[in-house]
Amino acid sequence: MDAEEKVSRYLEKIKKEDKKIKAFIELNPNVLEEAREIDRKIKQRKAGTLAGLAIAIKSNINVRGLRATCASKTLENYVSAYDATVIERIKREDGVIIGMTNMDEFACGSSGETSYFGPTQNPAAPGRIPGGSSSGSAAAVAAQFCDIALGSDTGGSIRNPASHCGVVGLKPTYGLVPRYGLIDLAMSLDQIGPIARDVYFTALMLEVIAGYNPMECTTINVPKQEYSKNLSRNIAGYKIGFAREFEEFTDPKIMGVIKNSLKKLENLGAEIVDVQLPNLGKGLSTYYLTVFVEFFSATRKFDGRRYGYKIEEVCGREVLRRILLGKYISQKEYSGKYYKKALQFRSLIKQELLAALSGVDVIAGPTVPKLPHELGTKIEDPLIMYGYDVLTVPANLAGIPGGVIKAGEAEGIPVGLQIQGKPLEEQRILNVMYALESNSGSRHDEKRI
Ligand code: GLN
Repeated sequence: MDAEEKVSRYLEKIKKEDKKIKAFIELNPNVLEEAREIDRKIKQRKAGTLAGLAIAIKSNINVRGLRATCASKTLENYVSAYDATVIERIKREDGVIIGMTNMDEFACGSSGETSYFGPTQNPAAPGRIPGGSSSGSAAAVAAQFCDIALGSDTGGSIRNPASHCGVVGLKPTYGLVPRYGLIDLAMSLDQIGPIARDVYFTALMLEVIAGYNPMECTTINVPKQEYSKNLSRNIAGYKIGFAREFEEFTDPKIMGVIKNSLKKLENLGAEIVDVQLPNLGKGLSTYYLTVFVEFFSATRKFDGRRYGYKIEEVCGREVLRRILLGKYISQKEYSGKYYKKALQFRSLIKQELLAALSGVDVIAGPTVPKLPHELGTKIEDPLIMYGYDVLTVPANLAGIPGGVIKAGEAEGIPVGLQIQGKPLEEQRILNVMYALESNSGSRHDEKRI
């Protein structure tokens, strides 16, 4: 099947099913033309590694000519004037951008429900939230509206929806993937990463978007990795850490599924080793204090003069809450009460995770502590929403990579296994996921549309 045919099949499917799912905010009006151009290149054997693959992009990443709305009324009509570095790299490898996906407003949320454009449905568990904040990206992959999607992850926004929607996702090491062109939630935590139907596509996309950008001081200058070529299912002898503390926070139904996949890993020759994470529960307050302050600062440019509307005048409740709390904390900060404390806890959490990782290859455990709630459930207490993030925020605070792959189902709802690794050891995470994936029978298959 050529790129044009494949893209038009996706478009048909989107037309039929996306009214209900609401994975996309906008489709690329030129996508068929762009696919045709790539088909010409394929015929001339000049095409790149993503040739003809349809890629969906979270609406907080700039793609020239398309809207980067952040799912907010603030940027409702904001059309990007440039491509983010990751988009330049995708285009260079001949991926076609099929559209911009729905998300929690300004990536603030874990459910997809705070979008100005309305909530996204979970294609893998109808009636439930798909998770967030990269809700549309995970849903677009799960509904087979695209081959690969990009999400962003500040405290779990790739891994959480990947878990709830039963797809693969990876949050890279902080600084591995350029953030230029990503609209910040919290710049010391944000990373762009892939969400895909399988590990091969996840590895392939990571390979394309990862790597040093001389224009960006937070990117790491390391040699380019060929994650997809180096995929290996042989994990015999791998030491996989598991922390008892995971169980304290996690629904036993979810834990049952996770324990099963740990057994599978053992059967594949890995050794499960106990590790300790006594400060696991402190991650949430550390994370949210950091986010409030950094988000407040990041939103000061949305003052209604340069882009769109003044954010405080049009945003939703969660975004406003964060701006007001960030403002308050910043004012009080002279006494070192909040942000400074958060920074101190952040180094403690980082040290603890790196110490736990030092004796093992990866740490495996649950991704989200509870099953996704039903769409429309009223959750008045923000702390209940924030509770979804307790297992994902530590990786962002420590800057380490974390992958998610479907481990099984609880009550018919997908449950994802989270695999965290040492900085820049994405390959090990991918290999563990690859081994599990082939063990469960699902495997990369180009022919599926
Ligand atoms: N759910 C977390 C939050 O609301 C994480 C969001 C994200 O990773 N973008 O901040």
